[in-house]
Amino acid sequence: MVEKIAYCENCNADVEYNVRTEIIDCDMDGIKFAYEAVIANCKNCGSEVYVDEINDINIIRAYSSQKRRLDDQAEKEENEEQSIFKEE
Ligand SMILES: [Zn+2]
Repeated sequence: MVEKIAYCENCNADVEYNVRTEIIDCDMDGIKFAYEAVIANCKNCGSEVYVDEINDINIIRAYSSQKRRLDDQAEKEENEEQSIFKEE
């Protein structure tokens, strides 16, 4: 990200923006997970602005976080299966 310029709908102009992170809680098909999203805000009015690169980062972060959660769940189920075998 060289130039921090994005279009702001509120200002109806290309504006500079600030970047911050925010923890977003998701619930997708009953799978709950959280990820640290990058949020861009217009320097003029503070409205959230859409930035392609940042959106891509968020999609990747959300995806990997969801995948981690699914892997954890799979591992947990596997352990439960193993404990069933032990009881036999
Ligand atoms: Zn603005």
